[in-house]
Amino acid sequence: MKGVSGFGLRISVCRALDEARASIPVGEARRLLRHALCVSHAELAAHPDRLLTAEESARFDVLVARRAQGEPVAYLLGEAEFYSLEFRVTPDVLIPRPETELLADIALEKMAGRACRILDLGTGSGCVAVTLAKHLPQARVTAVDVSPAALEVARSNAARHGAAPRFVQGDWFSALDGERFDLIVANPPYVAEGDAHLAQGDLRFEPRHALVSGPDGLDAIRRIVADAPRHLEPDGWLFFEHGYDQAAAVEALLARAGFARIEHRADLAGIPRMAGGRRP
Ligand code: GLN
Repeated sequence: MKGVSGFGLRISVCRALDEARASIPVGEARRLLRHALCVSHAELAAHPDRLLTAEESARFDVLVARRAQGEPVAYLLGEAEFYSLEFRVTPDVLIPRPETELLADIALEKMAGRACRILDLGTGSGCVAVTLAKHLPQARVTAVDVSPAALEVARSNAARHGAAPRFVQGDWFSALDGERFDLIVANPPYVAEGDAHLAQGDLRFEPRHALVSGPDGLDAIRRIVADAPRHLEPDGWLFFEHGYDQAAAVEALLARAGFARIEHRADLAGIPRMAGGRRP
């Protein structure tokens, strides 16, 4: 049996990591072992000879086996970091990505110091809405998602970080009749239906409705761009994340909807990743 060598013989941290390395990268094994043992990075590093209990071994073996089958580390841990905060994540929500931090950067840059109303469309885990509520105490943040399960995760993240966005269940703007905002942000689904990436890595385990949006991936973005002007204050901004190859298409959509001052931002890899503009 893996994890316990022989009858009642307990194995060490060092040995457990060695065995796990056969099936997953050692950095991931360390992270999963910390989770199975409920210890910090420092504790794990300081006590390589610590023996695992049978229960700890069993817990670790299950995590390693699931990871070896491709389950995302974030779902196994139930957590992911975004903007230096830890967020609860479940398979009901997209795993926060580092590139989406750029959306929070843009929002902070545009709204810093202003008493404003911000809308986060398709909030998922709530990572963007909670980050903005924490960093912009004068802002009133509304977070919308169509999925009640996602909203439950987002609410728990808000409580965890002492933030209090308003949560609304609805399909994009459908529950926001007559409401206007100074800034609308979104990380909508934007992957095309047949995209090969959907069969790879973490994406295989993430909610499809949070990833995929029609034959060209632009269905949600088309809807957001078309409806946003009615929900923006004069001079209000819309900014959203899009796919690596969608900058030109998104620019055309924004221009056709009459948006002014259209801006693009590239992620750390230099790929245009965010686009937005001012209300027509
Ligand atoms: N950035 C994700 C990916 O392609 C997609 C997230 C999204 O659709 N909003 O891995």
